[in-house]
Parts: sequence; structure tokens; C-alpha cells
Amino acid sequence: MCAECLRCRPSESLRVVKSLGVREGFRVDVGLPANVPRSEGGFRCGLCVNECLVPREEGASGFCGAWVFRGGGLVPVSGYGRAVVEWYFDPHPTNCVAAHFCPAVTGAGFPEFAVRPGLEEGYVNLAVFFAGCGLDCVFCQNWQHKVMAGEAVRRGGRVPWVRDWSELVEAAMDPRVTCICYFGGDPGPHAPFALRASNEVVRRAREGGLVKRVCWETNGVEHPGLMRAMARLSLISGGIVKVDWKAWTPSVYEALTGVNGEKAVKRLMVNTALVARMGRERPEIPLLTVSVLLVPEYVDAEEVRRISEYLASLDTDVPLVLLAFHPDHLMNDVGTTPRRQAEECVREARNAGLKHVYVGNVWLLQ
Ligand code: SF4
Ligand code: SF4
Ligand code: SF4
Repeated sequence: MCAECLRCRPSESLRVVKSLGVREGFRVDVGLPANVPRSEGGFRCGLCVNECLVPREEGASGFCGAWVFRGGGLVPVSGYGRAVVEWYFDPHPTNCVAAHFCPAVTGAGFPEFAVRPGLEEGYVNLAVFFAGCGLDCVFCQNWQHKVMAGEAVRRGGRVPWVRDWSELVEAAMDPRVTCICYFGGDPGPHAPFALRASNEVVRRAREGGLVKRVCWETNGVEHPGLMRAMARLSLISGGIVKVDWKAWTPSVYEALTGVNGEKAVKRLMVNTALVARMGRERPEIPLLTVSVLLVPEYVDAEEVRRISEYLASLDTDVPLVLLAFHPDHLMNDVGTTPRRQAEECVREARNAGLKHVYVGNVWLLQ
């Protein structure tokens, strides 16, 4: 189903996409619900745009696999204060999507938000990889998180990757760590865990005069209240909220991610506007960065133009990072991003008024 059909005949095209059942088959195999649960009388989760109605059956999970119905309520799959997560130290400079302009590389905000006026050589990022995501992208380049999340649902949370929030705080307080990047999967479904740990890290960092930036790499569909709390921590710590915007056209978004595209795109508009507004308090480091993965044939110049026009209407200084794609997960029948597609997209973004447009993963361009 091509982007043109999805844009011109959305309902019919989405029916065809759905009838293939490819995404659903994989999800069931790994132990996740095939679709966003809409159980009548189900337990409602409001953490992300899916607003799952989780069946009131012991062990039933939300779409992400991070929350399950247990003991009469909805709880994190491995219990309160715990998450299915892994972390590691990543030396600066990392291949972070915001590396072109973030304090770890440029020293922006030194001395409050960076330990050096330039590259933080010898220091590391604490990369926190969550299992579970509110989207189900067919091309997910970190799809192992779905297997981890599904396994946790199947085994009632008893998997080797369960960690307590206090362990994360200890890891973040390592003297080499200058920033924490939450990704995965997506931090949205795990926001209560991540916020609890980050609040403590930021408190200790302030007391000790340390640099501990809190950054998020998110699909941007979390509840705006959570997004505000996440962005607030980034704002006061020198961190960045990196929103990965999959597509502008709701039907294209839905075909690629498996969730309601109308609702998701509206949520992205609300959340990016919110973070852009908050970012005015700290102009020296952009609080909001948006990335767009240039999926060949789908996320084309038209999609990038519309996203860019919207971002430019918020603030023409919002950095946009266009990422070259490589085939992965269930979408392995397309190549990497053609160089011509990337050039067209850069042109459209600049014409829309954005002043800071970058291309990431350039080595993948063909
Ligand atoms: S975080 Fe999102 S996907 Fe997960 S259970 Fe809640 S509403 Fe559903
Ligand atoms: S996590 Fe934040 S501070 Fe660290 S390298 Fe990435 S954008 Fe920079
Ligand atoms: S939002 Fe990211 S982690 Fe989640 S399914 Fe899509 S590509 Fe994977």
C-alpha cells in the first residue's frame, strides 16, 4: 500500500493494511496484544494516546506490555518502582540524535549544564533502554524491546531485565555520567519510573553542584501532563526532549505504527507546542528537537513539509533531524533512504522556515 493511496483513500487503504495481519502475528507470537485493547468495562490507562481499556483478567496487558491488570488494578508488569529496562554507559561523543547541538558536544550552557566548554571527552551518557512502547512501528529498529516486553508479560514480570528505580539513581550518580538518555522502546509508558529516578538524580546533582542532564527520546504520544513533567526535568537540568515524529498524514502514521493516526498526530501537535513553549525559558540549548525517519516511499517530502510547516509555526529555531532509514523488523522489502529523497526533504524543511535542519545516519544514504 503506497503513501499516495494512504493519503487519497485512507479508510480503504488502512483496511488492506490491516487485513495482512503481519504486525498482529508478530505481536501475538512474542506475547503482546495484537491491537490496542478496547475491552468493554476494561481498566483504562491514560499514560499515552492509546488510552487502552485493558481486560480485567489477571495478567492481561496494555498495548505496550509495560502495564498489566493484576490484583484488581493496573500495575507495572514487574511491580511498582520497577521496570523492564537495561542501561549502559555510552562515551561522549555518542551518536545521539541531538549530538550536533547538545551540551555534551558543544559545551552549550557551560558551566551550569556542561562540564567543559567543548566536547565532554572522558565522560559518558547513561543510555536507558526500556522494553515496551505505545507504538508498533513496522520498521522498529529496536524491535528486541517488544520481545523483552512480551516475555515479561508472559512470565508475570519475572524476567532478568527487571531493575528498581533506586538502582538507576545509583548508576546515574557515577561521576563519569553527565547525561541520562531514556529511550527503548519508549519512555512514555515508563514515565512514572523514569520521573521518580530522575527527580532524585536532579535533586542530588543540584545539591552537589553536578551536571546530570535528563534527556528523552520519545515518540511523543504520552499524556501532555507527563510530557510537561518530563520536559520540566530536561529544562532545569540542561537536557533535551527529542520527539520522533513518524508521519504527518494520519493514515500514513497509522499504517506505519499500528495506532490511531488521527489521535496520535493531534497529540504530537499538542506535545511539541507544549515543549516549544517551555523552551523559551532556556534559549541557549534547544529544549525541543524533532526527528523524522525518512522511510523510503512513505515519509517523503510531502510528509516532511507538513511537519516542518507546523514546527515553524511554533518556532523556526526548533532543530529538525532527518534520519536516514535502514530496513529492519517487518519492513525489510525496501532499501535505505535514497540521497535524492533526503535532499528534497531538507529543501522542504528549509523552505517551510526551519533554520536548523540536519541529516543523521548519512552513511546510509544511497
Ligand atoms: S502506556 Fe499506553 S500503550 Fe501502555 S497501557 Fe497505557 S495507554 Fe496502553
Ligand atoms: S542524552 Fe542529551 S545531553 Fe546526552 S548526548 Fe544526548 S542530547 Fe546530548
Ligand atoms: S516508536 Fe520507536 S521504539 Fe516504538 S515501535 Fe516505533 S520505532 Fe520502535
